[in-house]
This record gives sequence, C-alpha cells and structure tokens, in this order.
Amino acid sequence: MQDADATVTVEAARLGKLVTDIFAASGCAADEAGRIGHYLLSANLAGHDSHGVIRTPRYVQWLQDGKVLAGQTLSVVSEGPVFATVDGNYGFGQTIGPQAVDLGIAKARAAGVAVIALRHSGHLGRIGDWGERAAEAGLASIHFVNVEGGELVAPFGGVDRRFSTNPVCIGIPGTGDAPMLLLDMATSLVAEGKVLVASNGGKKIPPGSLVRPDGQFTDDPAALYGPLKPSAPRDPAMGEGALVAFGLHKGSGLAFMCEMLAGVLSGGGTSGPVPGGRRSRISNGMLSVYLDPAKFAGADFHARARAYADYVKASRPVTAGGEVLVPGEPEARTRAERLARGVPLQKQTWDAIRATAAGLGVAVPD
Ligand code: NAD
Repeated sequence: MQDADATVTVEAARLGKLVTDIFAASGCAADEAGRIGHYLLSANLAGHDSHGVIRTPRYVQWLQDGKVLAGQTLSVVSEGPVFATVDGNYGFGQTIGPQAVDLGIAKARAAGVAVIALRHSGHLGRIGDWGERAAEAGLASIHFVNVEGGELVAPFGGVDRRFSTNPVCIGIPGTGDAPMLLLDMATSLVAEGKVLVASNGGKKIPPGSLVRPDGQFTDDPAALYGPLKPSAPRDPAMGEGALVAFGLHKGSGLAFMCEMLAGVLSGGGTSGPVPGGRRSRISNGMLSVYLDPAKFAGADFHARARAYADYVKASRPVTAGGEVLVPGEPEARTRAERLARGVPLQKQTWDAIRATAAGLGVAVPD
C-alpha cells in the first residue's frame, strides 16, 4: 500500500483536458471524450474521488474490451406523454445519462411530471450530476440506480452478496443553476470506489463497512478484493466478503427496491447472476422521476423550501463550533475549493492515469 499522504495536486482544467485527450485517443469522438472528461472531473470537484478520474484506466480498458461502446444514442422502447422506457445500448453513461435526463426534463416541462426508466447504460458515475442537470432546468428529481450483474452488498442479516451499491439521488432546485439541496448516496455504508481509494492508501473506510464470509465485520479492503498487491488492479471478484448496506434493515430494503425499480421495472437486469457467467458489458439501470415544483406547490415553492432548509441548518450543533450541513453542501464547498486550488489525487491514481495516457501516446502535462 502507498503512503496515504502521497498526493499530487492537478489544476482542474488541466486534469479535465488530460482525461478528454485520453478518451479521444481511445477512439471516442471529440464531444464524447469531452463529456467523459467533464463528468469524471465533476466527481472529483464534488469530492467524490471514487467516481472521478480514478476511473480513467478502468473505462479505457472497458472500451478496449467492448464492455462499453463509444458513440451510442439511446433508443426508445416504449413511450407516453409522461413516461418513457429507454435503452442506452451500453453507451458511455456520460453520453447516455444526459440524453435520458434531457428526455425527462422535456416531458416534465410539458406535463409537470415524467418518469424515465433507463436500461443498459454504461457506468453513470456520480448520480448527483443527473440531479444537478434536472435542478438546473428548474426541476426536482428522484433517481434509483442499480448495476446489472454487479452484486457487491450483502442484504441485512446475510453474508452473501446480493445487491449492487444502488445509489439514490434526490435533487431540489434552487433559484439559480445550482440545486438548493442534493442528496446523492450509495445505499452501501460506503461506495465501492471508497474501498478502492482505501485499498490504494487513501482515506480509510469506517469500521464495519464490510462483512467477511464468517459473519465478522471489518474495514480491511482485502475482504472485498482479496490479498492486496500494490500495483495490481483491484477486482471485487477476487474477494470473498461483501459490502454492508447503510442503516441496517432500512438501507438494505432501499437497495432491494433500487434493484426492483432500476433493474426489473426498467426491463434491464438486476445485480444477480447473469446468464452465462460474468457479465460481458457494464450496465447501470436508472429509474428517474422529474417534477416541476411550479405545477405542484405554485410560485412560493422556492421561498418555502429555502425557509425550511434554513430552519434545519439552524439546529444547534452537537459540538461547540460545529455546524449542521444540508445535503449537497459538502460537495459545493469542495467544488469551490478544488476549482481554486486544484484537485488532489493519490500518487498511485495519478501514476495510473499517466501510464494510461503514455500507452495511448497522449502528452501528460508537468
Ligand atoms: P457520501 O456518503 O459522501 O454522501 C452522501 C450524501 O450525504 C450527499 O448528498 C452529501 O451531500 C450528504 N452529506 C455528506 N456529509 C454530510 C453532512 N455532514 N451533513 C449533511 N449531509 C451530508 O456519498 P456516497 O454514499 O459515498 O456516494 C458517493 C458517490 O458514489 C455518489 O455520487 C453516488 O452517486 C456514487 N455512486 C455511483 C454508483 C453507480 O453505479 N454509478 C454506485 C454507487 C455510488
């Protein structure tokens, strides 16, 4: 494992450009490469390093292996005025995600509400990006997500993997582009990417985030990835343990429902075993609900929502000098700081990105 303090700081625009250049050199069209660079950087800016540029080598490998496809457009499977089921055709989530969200925005603007069930999208990354896109259009939104064939999480009371990390996101629009509130969370106690970061010497995961096959709880990433070798890629298939759902039976139940809504109702697939063994493609499903607040609450929605959010924030802190934050606030602060000061990366992450760039003949900035 690397020294946890071994970090480099890269200016945000340069980092985004490097990732964009890598995907352009990998065979993506310029606009798609730009979107992948934009959204991976966006996750780092929000402080979710687990879903940021650390994914670059893995995404490039998936593209080379045909597990994700460049240049895809979603197809409509079924459609009505307030709903659609759409298929992402295993295109990059950074391309398919915005297409699916924009369809929901268009329908909700016309009808007040829309439900979009997306199947077979490539990895959708940080789901908060989709809640933010809807909020920018003035809409509240709810997103339930699953990973087809991606079981990593044990159900409450069990040790065998059954669920994926099943993120849920709820966005409440503000009066400007940024959401007033953005709850965006995995239903596992920690997202898999946070175990990945910890396994590379980054921030430790909380005790009891993982369960071993014998029922013992642990924070050792080896339970998920098997014995850790410093330079070897982390593969959850090599570990015998499982992630644990947050909030005991309640988080486990929410993960279960994500599989039902994003996996079964979308017509995609659940986290469970895939016919023929290991999955050949990477696939997120996402069931999204879009709501136009003006059509429900009327013109004073923002004022009432703001007043309540301020009231919640005004709760007296547990510790002297402490503070109550609202969902989305930590990410907004981290974004402002990293845009100003640069994006800190684990040295191992930066080296892996540089090696991927070098392998594709992409120049790396100093
Ligand atoms: P997290 O635990 O860091 O944050 C969860 C939520 O809690 C956020 O909305 C955040 O604003 C809020 N929050 C954090 N600290 C707070 C505080 N002190 N007070 C009040 N609110 C606070 O997030 P996570 O569960 O580790 O998820 C990380 C990311 O992983 C998310 O962006 C998620 O979408 C992504 N993810 C994606 C997939 C996928 O398949 N695409 C799977 C799992 C997770």
